[in-house]
Amino acid sequence: MSLLPRRLLLALSAAASVALVAGCTSGTESGSGSSHDEGGSAAATATSLTTSSAAPVVSPAEAELTPVVGTVTTEPAPVMGSDGNVYLAYELSIVNAAGAPVVIKGVRVRDADTGEVVQERSGAALLSTFKATGAGAATTAPTEATLNGGQHGFIWLSPSFDPTQAVPHALVHELELSYANPPNALIAPSSTETIAPTPVRSKPAPVIAPPLQGDNWFDGNGCCDEVTPHRGAANPVDGQFYFAERFGVDWVQLDAQGRLLVGDPTSLSSYPYYGAPITAVADGEIVAVHDGEVTQTPGSSPAVGSLQVTQYGGNYVVQRFTQGGEIYYAFYAHLEPGSMDALQVGQQVATGGAIGKLGNTGNTDSPHLHFHVMDGPDPLASNGLPYRFSSFQLVGRATGDDALLPLFTGGALTLAPGAASGPRTDDLPLYLDLVDFPAPTG
Ligand SMILES: [Zn+2]
Repeated sequence: MSLLPRRLLLALSAAASVALVAGCTSGTESGSGSSHDEGGSAAATATSLTTSSAAPVVSPAEAELTPVVGTVTTEPAPVMGSDGNVYLAYELSIVNAAGAPVVIKGVRVRDADTGEVVQERSGAALLSTFKATGAGAATTAPTEATLNGGQHGFIWLSPSFDPTQAVPHALVHELELSYANPPNALIAPSSTETIAPTPVRSKPAPVIAPPLQGDNWFDGNGCCDEVTPHRGAANPVDGQFYFAERFGVDWVQLDAQGRLLVGDPTSLSSYPYYGAPITAVADGEIVAVHDGEVTQTPGSSPAVGSLQVTQYGGNYVVQRFTQGGEIYYAFYAHLEPGSMDALQVGQQVATGGAIGKLGNTGNTDSPHLHFHVMDGPDPLASNGLPYRFSSFQLVGRATGDDALLPLFTGGALTLAPGAASGPRTDDLPLYLDLVDFPAPTG
């Protein structure tokens, strides 16, 4: 039922078992390496003889064993959502360095300066935002967030801050660990560890024009709390994981009755918005134009394996733009074949200028525009950055994922009663939002 489940990944096999390196077992710090380097030893001796005994001795904090190690995938970048809250959407990349399974019982994100907990997850809430790499082939769904010995995984995080709360300048991450069968005496059956300190990006999210015009555009698979196919897409390309689609949205237009399609779901003519004009979100240079991908039959996704990874975006355009001294790349995907024929790499396109037409090419199950902003020109080998639309009208928000199901058989979207609405300025539409973009000019 998803609009474009572009989830390539997490198909990697489990990483080879990683042994926990406990270091020297003698418990001494004798500097025995000098026995392999006589010259060095002599130099060290000479140095020690000339070092002043008055030098202060500073004791570093004692290192702690952290059997699960990790980092954040990219610096968390704040963005104002359409609900008035600031979101940080990012991922924690973790590896169980021990040779026995570990259960992540809980995760806490803390403001590194104040120590305040800004997001906390455990139980089912943690499980739904956790994935062990290579676990897709498991025959039974896990009931706890478990990493086997040596296994890698991700935890998707999305702390948010209402207008009364300050957004932290830096974060740290606390994990509650449980080893039912510790592999050795150094590993405690249960412990709490602090890992992955990170600054929060200080640059504001760029403000851009919407790439579409007109009423009733629905935000499919957008940011931030849910691990949608976009947020979940950790693409293992060019030797590392990238999260290009972190802030990607699949935009579809509903009619005045709230319907996605009228008639045969497998006919393009059943989708009134098919071919809608796509326009440039900023002044900038076209850096990629990819054409030649065929139009897919709507109503279902292409068979797995029928497309190469580089074909998933269908026909697409990448445009570079600059704001506040930062370079960004706008990605417009699944365009109608030939609709961007007038564009050439190197061409400057002004805000509102023609990019192409909304299509149904690549990995798609219904006509839609996939749009996101990223930090590099390659739609796979880049990381998604947040962005804000200068102006739109929030109509409402769907009641939840289930509200989408009727859309694919000609039913109407159900909006949550009492959901926020009204004009929005310099905000990011959120997953399940229904919005009106400004009408086309001229
Ligand atoms: Zn998409």
